[in-house]
Amino acid sequence: MASLALIVAAGRGERLGSEGPKALVELGGRSLLRWSVDLMLAVEEIDRIVVALPPGVSAPAGTTGVQGGAARSESVARALQASGPGDPGDLVVVHDAARPLASAELVRAALGALARNSDLDAAITAAPVTDTIKRAEPPAGAARAGGAHPQAGSEADQQARGEADPQAPGVAGVVVETLDRSALWAVQTPQVFRRGILERALDVPGEVLAQATDDAWLVERLGGRVAIVPAGGENLKITTPLDLSLAELLVASA
Ligand code: C5P
Repeated sequence: MASLALIVAAGRGERLGSEGPKALVELGGRSLLRWSVDLMLAVEEIDRIVVALPPGVSAPAGTTGVQGGAARSESVARALQASGPGDPGDLVVVHDAARPLASAELVRAALGALARNSDLDAAITAAPVTDTIKRAEPPAGAARAGGAHPQAGSEADQQARGEADPQAPGVAGVVVETLDRSALWAVQTPQVFRRGILERALDVPGEVLAQATDDAWLVERLGGRVAIVPAGGENLKITTPLDLSLAELLVASA
């Protein structure tokens, strides 16, 4: 059974405020892209690495490069296509270059979970949620959707109860639900898939690919069985300058 790694690195990284592509932002003297390539090179089960790249960035040695797409999962689809034909039973590791601190042990744990459990279609890494998570509606929508939550009521009801006007300055939304934290996982990459189902999951219109915030969701849409492999919070995603500062601290203290 062959194993292929797809690294998606074609994002612009606008929220990081970097001058060039996020993949080239440095962390501890190495680009974010280099961290993920070195990670996959360290996993002996992986025989091939394909990287989805932003325009003007060339593929690192030992990898095949392809230009990324408009959305993340489009970049994954292009990288999978660029890998050439494969067996439906092959394992495909998908990893965001935005997560440079993933460990080789974590990649192996996800590969192993899929290799050992033939009833699974995918194994995704995730950390238990520690924050309390609430679902809220935007202020204007919340005012219109009176009664959506047993305690929400109409805007007039809320005002009668002396509650904050949901359209008041400084109010971002109104809570409609508090979720059961014990059942929630904050999903990361690496995510590992059987090649056959990943190919089918990615073979959808561009609008669907654009909606996907991870590829496991596309497999879930097909009724695929997706398992969670527990991961730690140190596999953080570099989105903002604060994330990069935290990652610098973690690298310096390692
Ligand atoms: O910002 P987002 O969560 O979509 O980015 C996750 C990963 O997907 C990043 O590593 C980014 O480089 C990659 N990406 C991509 N192609 C896009 C958008 C994001 O390869 N069009």
